[in-house]
Amino acid sequence: MRGEALRTGVAVVLLLFGGACLAELPPDGGSQGTAAYPEAEAAAAWQGLAAGYVRQALKDRTLDKDAALNARIDTVMDAVGAAAAAIDSRFAKSTWSAILIDDFGLGAAAFPGAVILVDAKFVRRLQLNDDELALILSHEAAHVIAGHAAAKLAFMAAFVGKEKLPTARAALVEFFAKDSYVAVFQPEARQQEREADRVGAAIFLATGYDAPRALGLFDKLAKLETPEDGQAADSHDGAQVRKQIIAGVIAELQQHHARRAPLPR
Ligand SMILES: [Zn+2]
Repeated sequence: MRGEALRTGVAVVLLLFGGACLAELPPDGGSQGTAAYPEAEAAAAWQGLAAGYVRQALKDRTLDKDAALNARIDTVMDAVGAAAAAIDSRFAKSTWSAILIDDFGLGAAAFPGAVILVDAKFVRRLQLNDDELALILSHEAAHVIAGHAAAKLAFMAAFVGKEKLPTARAALVEFFAKDSYVAVFQPEARQQEREADRVGAAIFLATGYDAPRALGLFDKLAKLETPEDGQAADSHDGAQVRKQIIAGVIAELQQHHARRAPLPR
């Protein structure tokens, strides 16, 4: 479909809200170059973390039970998954799932294995429409496509030393053990977020959801921003900056597409 036009915009990227994004990898394969751990091992470590969140939600009874909201997010996730497959053939056979958890606390987070955890309270608080949900899930899917989770483990192997972190699991556990790692990783995290916004914009465009309505998300996020948001220490740019960048990528891809497929006279 629009895959060819979209690929031009796929330089990098992933998510959207004020919370941190767990998944990550930098442009051009990242500062660490080759992967620190075998791809399957790194993916398994992250999938274990995602499974842990879901198990905890089951135990705490915080898996969201709103049938209508679950149906909406399933529909949007299907569209975003199809768009991701159109952009990157490695994901042609992936089955994406978005799981709503009350008070997840992160807005949304993406994991290898095409799993996205979404904070149901965040969705309700911002009264997200389907277009906005599609933009958020596109950003999260972009983190997965760009391999950001593996890049975070590669950062740990380089920073702490592979001999001290012999397995992907050890690197993952250590990353969350100290806030100082997050601080050191922050510049790369911001690059990952920018990449996720750009790649996510391309995925979003392929879903067919409404861009102007989706971009309203950033006006909602801007109202929630604190003075710290978007500053140098934050992994995300400010909401209005992100809105302009994503709108720009979408406009560029639409123009590119229009040139390739002129309207019938
Ligand atoms: Zn993100």
